[in-house]
Amino acid sequence: MDKMKAFIVADVGKLERVERPIPQIKEPDDVLLKVKAVGICGSDVKILEGKHHFKPGTVLGHEFCGEVVAVGSGVRHIKVGDRVAVDNNIRCGFCSFCRMGMSSQCVDIKTSALGVMRDGGYAEYCLVPKNNVMCFHRKLTMCSARKSKRWQRSSTG
Ligand SMILES: [Zn+2]
Ligand SMILES: [Zn+2]
Repeated sequence: MDKMKAFIVADVGKLERVERPIPQIKEPDDVLLKVKAVGICGSDVKILEGKHHFKPGTVLGHEFCGEVVAVGSGVRHIKVGDRVAVDNNIRCGFCSFCRMGMSSQCVDIKTSALGVMRDGGYAEYCLVPKNNVMCFHRKLTMCSARKSKRWQRSSTG
C-alpha cells in the first residue's frame, strides 16, 4: 500500500511527522482528496497546548482544500479532477439541532470533526464525506479557497 507523509498530534505538545497508508475509498459517500493548501488555525495551537479536545494519533489540519483523486459509488456532484474546499465538521442531519437548521450545534460535531477527531489535512491525502466538500470557482486559488469560512460555523472554527 502506498504511503504518504502526515503530521499527527500524538499527545499534548507532541506534533509528529509520520508515514501513513494513503486512505482508500471505503464508503459510497467517500471522496479522496490530494491536499493542496491547508491553514494553521488557532484551534490547532489550542489542541497542541491541551486546551481543545482531540483524539490522539489524529492527522491535524481542519482548514484545507484539494483536488479530488477518487470518489465512492454514491458521489454524484463531485468528480475526479474537481478542486474542492472542505467543511471539516461532519453533521448528522438528524439530531434536533440539525433539524432546526442549527447544524453548527450538531451532537456529532465534537466526535467527528476532521483534523480533530478524524484525520484531517496535514497530510498528502485525506478522505472526506461527500457532503463536506464543495467545488469552488476556477478563478480562486487553492490558498484563497482554503480560507473560505462561509459554510464553516461551528465549535472548530
Ligand atoms: Zn446533527
Ligand atoms: Zn480553524
